Amino acid sequence: MRPDDQLTDADRRHLSRCVELAREAVETGNRPFGSVLVGADGTVLKEDHNRTGSGDPTAHPELALARWAALNLSREARAAATIYTSGEHCPMCAAAHGWCGIGRAVFATSTPQLVAWLAEFGAPALPYKPITLRELLPDLEVVGPFGEFTDEIKALHERVHRH
Ligand SMILES: [Zn+2]
Repeated sequence: MRPDDQLTDADRRHLSRCVELAREAVETGNRPFGSVLVGADGTVLKEDHNRTGSGDPTAHPELALARWAALNLSREARAAATIYTSGEHCPMCAAAHGWCGIGRAVFATSTPQLVAWLAEFGAPALPYKPITLRELLPDLEVVGPFGEFTDEIKALHERVHRH
């Protein structure tokens, strides 16, 4: 866990928005994940939340934002951009982040935290080896997790997974 005082005000604002989006996702029948794509000047370029309630288990926001960036931003703009997300990218989204050349990833809670929560709630385990962003993209600037978001995000997962 990183000390929360390493969070800049801008990082905190973007991560808070990710948590809001994760809450919207749950309220519309999806899993609790939200993400924001931010340009070099701090402008929010695009945001999305998980949409797996559609029946597509790959409808993750980090993948959607990486694809959007590839289709709408120059290589330079992508390299200077950041994807903020409520929960660390899964390996599919991490690979997309790498393929699309996004510059930085900032997450509120980590994959190891999610793995522990799923076990605690008696939910099915993740359907893949839970490789972290730092393992999959060792050259990427990766920031997180931050403890101040843990309780809120864990509660959203508990709503979805504990029955
Ligand atoms: Zn994913």
